[in-house]
Amino acid sequence: MPELPEVEVTRRQIASLLENRVIADVITTKPSYFFLTPPSTLKRELPGRRCERLERRGKYLIAHLDDGRRLLLHLGMTGQLFGSGVASVRLLSSTGGGTLAPEQQQRAFAPDQHTHLRLRFADSGREVLFRDTRKFGKVELLLADQASERLDKLGIDALQVTGTLLHQATRARATAIKNVLLDQSVIAGVGNIYADEALFLAQVRPKRAAKKVTLQEHERLAAAIVAVLTRSIETGGSSISDYVRPDGSDGGYQDERRVYGRANEPCLACGSAIKRIVIGQRSTCYCPACQR
Ligand SMILES: [Zn+2]
Repeated sequence: MPELPEVEVTRRQIASLLENRVIADVITTKPSYFFLTPPSTLKRELPGRRCERLERRGKYLIAHLDDGRRLLLHLGMTGQLFGSGVASVRLLSSTGGGTLAPEQQQRAFAPDQHTHLRLRFADSGREVLFRDTRKFGKVELLLADQASERLDKLGIDALQVTGTLLHQATRARATAIKNVLLDQSVIAGVGNIYADEALFLAQVRPKRAAKKVTLQEHERLAAAIVAVLTRSIETGGSSISDYVRPDGSDGGYQDERRVYGRANEPCLACGSAIKRIVIGQRSTCYCPACQR
């Protein structure tokens, strides 16, 4: 599932494909829960518009259009946003990927039934494609002054989080600290991978009651969150299942994971076996010796 770093890497690469170009044509799949704004409205309203700026808030991308409206894009679980002409095995459907010969897997992507949104531009250059095999992604066109429930309920962007803020947000919360880190209304952008990694770096056990975590530990936690997210952005994000960078290449952060997905493997700091538990229905990995 794309988290803040993957969405930020996507933003940086898609911004150059989207900004200052005039949309000429919109091609979509048929209406579905993927479209919060009906495809017919997108096809009617977007042509002629120019995207001035692509912003990220938490895991949302917001394309600011020249008439003040905003196009909201969310990658959901398996969303892929990229430019036309790229090649990646991650862009093959799960049914087709395994059966293709290696030379076919390198072929440039051709839009398929999972490519729900295609933006074509007046300059006839590369298209912007939004593909999503499971359709948990979202597209919504917001009017200039339209409030967005999805954006309004987001907490502070995870790259801006501070120990004081975390400490204040958790004083009355008996839930596990990991659940607070995943709560998008407290911090926007942290998901399962980076929550586990940050808790390890901060040496805090994921199951600790949030209100029992001290200010000093929250300071370490905030610094660790910013550190793991920043490092992941530098390496292009984590490509664990479907995530692909907009240029078709894989991210590199999955190779730097210290605890996430490493159950029973030795802790890189002390050698103890990494433990796996379930918190809030999410798989959680931590070192029982390093984290308290
Ligand atoms: Zn350890």
